[in-house]
Amino acid sequence: MAISRETRQKDILCAQVSLMHTFFSAQELFDKVFLLDSGVGKATVYRFLQRTRDAGSIHSFECGGVTVYSLTARMHCHFVCETCGDQEHFLLSDLPFLTREMQKRACHIQVSVDGVCKKCASNRITSV
Ligand SMILES: [Zn+2]
Ligand SMILES: [Zn+2]
Ligand SMILES: [Zn+2]
Repeated sequence: MAISRETRQKDILCAQVSLMHTFFSAQELFDKVFLLDSGVGKATVYRFLQRTRDAGSIHSFECGGVTVYSLTARMHCHFVCETCGDQEHFLLSDLPFLTREMQKRACHIQVSVDGVCKKCASNRITSV
């Protein structure tokens, strides 16, 4: 039985996504898939990600102007320093109060916290 090009590309995409253990962008997925099948176009990768996300199999987040995806992570948390603009990720396992207050079932959550980073906080103290 002949396997169509489309089916083979979809299999490669599914396999590569299942190997992603952290957040990944469409470009990162494309780079990996391209090594296995140089016939895969970027549009195919974007379409695949969109469909998979719509089906609820992966979650998408916004990370510095880029859409990132995750197979397992349901939280994506940013800390942004108001002083130097540095952005870092931090881990949060759960936000039980949020789901309690919303009274809805959350799928995935993106958190952004603005504040002062450690570096800027210590600069402030020493400059006084
Ligand atoms: Zn989700
Ligand atoms: Zn991020
Ligand atoms: Zn800072």
